[in-house]
Amino acid sequence: MSTLPPYSVRVSSRAKRLQLKVMPPGKVEVVVPKRVNLNSVPAFVAQHHHWLQRHLDKMAAVHVDEPLVPEIIHLPAIAEQWQVECHEGVRACVFSLGEMKLKLLASNEQHACSMLQGWLQRRAKQVLPPWLEQVSAEVGLEFNRVTIRAQRTRWGSCSSRKNINLNRALLFLSPAAVRYLLIHELCHTVHMNHSSRYWRLVASLMPEYKQMEAELRHAMAKIPRWALPDFG
Ligand SMILES: [Zn+2]
Repeated sequence: MSTLPPYSVRVSSRAKRLQLKVMPPGKVEVVVPKRVNLNSVPAFVAQHHHWLQRHLDKMAAVHVDEPLVPEIIHLPAIAEQWQVECHEGVRACVFSLGEMKLKLLASNEQHACSMLQGWLQRRAKQVLPPWLEQVSAEVGLEFNRVTIRAQRTRWGSCSSRKNINLNRALLFLSPAAVRYLLIHELCHTVHMNHSSRYWRLVASLMPEYKQMEAELRHAMAKIPRWALPDFG
């Protein structure tokens, strides 16, 4: 998967060279001089990826205005909506699937969030591997192992040994976007690159893949802060 953060492009007649700007709360803008070809922008952003990520992380650490612990957790991928109840107490988390309720006892927000993360991890482990199995059988592309992870910059990956990593935050996406990501990684078991042959294979399995790719690119910024590996 592409690991670049989402960014917008502004063409400027005054700018003399390509410029990257990071603006609160974490928006990235590329300023492009009029005479510079827009096709060169993705490579430029990729080249400054590390610098960009550092600034975005710093900015995210400063922007702590919204409450960390949510009242409702919406998981569109599996059409679930959970109510969260949080009380002062000695660390404990109770959840009931029937009632769609999460009851937390925590001494502070960090503890509450780490419990929610543990819960999200378990939920993702319950639903994503069977989903991958199902899509794999459907499209006839086999994989070796699947691991569920918390990742900040990618939705999934596939190794040359056909081991697939999936980001637990996939549960915050639409079912169609998750299906696309699964197909995307499964296609890497055939082509370990993003060559035109690779994209032809993807297109043959999901003709509307470009739309999904765009959704994934924008969705990374919308993951709730409590669900990020280090609480954003
Ligand atoms: Zn890929």
